[in-house]
Amino acid sequence: MKFCPTCGILLLPKKAGGKTVLQCSSCGYTLKVANIEDYKVVKKSEKSDEIPVLEEEAPSTLPVTKAKCPKCGHDKAQWWIRQTRSADEPSTRFYKCEKCGKIWREYA
Ligand SMILES: [Zn+2]
Ligand SMILES: [Zn+2]
Repeated sequence: MKFCPTCGILLLPKKAGGKTVLQCSSCGYTLKVANIEDYKVVKKSEKSDEIPVLEEEAPSTLPVTKAKCPKCGHDKAQWWIRQTRSADEPSTRFYKCEKCGKIWREYA
């Protein structure tokens, strides 16, 4: 999954001019991707407005570290590292707030 570099929120697949891109629902940032299937999200139900369930959920057992949540200010979060596909890019550290469930990232 990909996140908006400005807002840090999940980019969602969207059709644009016959191609599918990933778009930030907040600022409109778009990202072209080679294979959109890699980034699709699965919704629990088409009818409800529930938050989409990501195909790539955070692993269930994660270490907890001190990290301040940008949303609620809670100071403990679970964390894990995702190696990006390109060897040139640094690995990315993800945090998930213990309290509100907010997920954010930080370059390691
Ligand atoms: Zn954005
Ligand atoms: Zn939080």
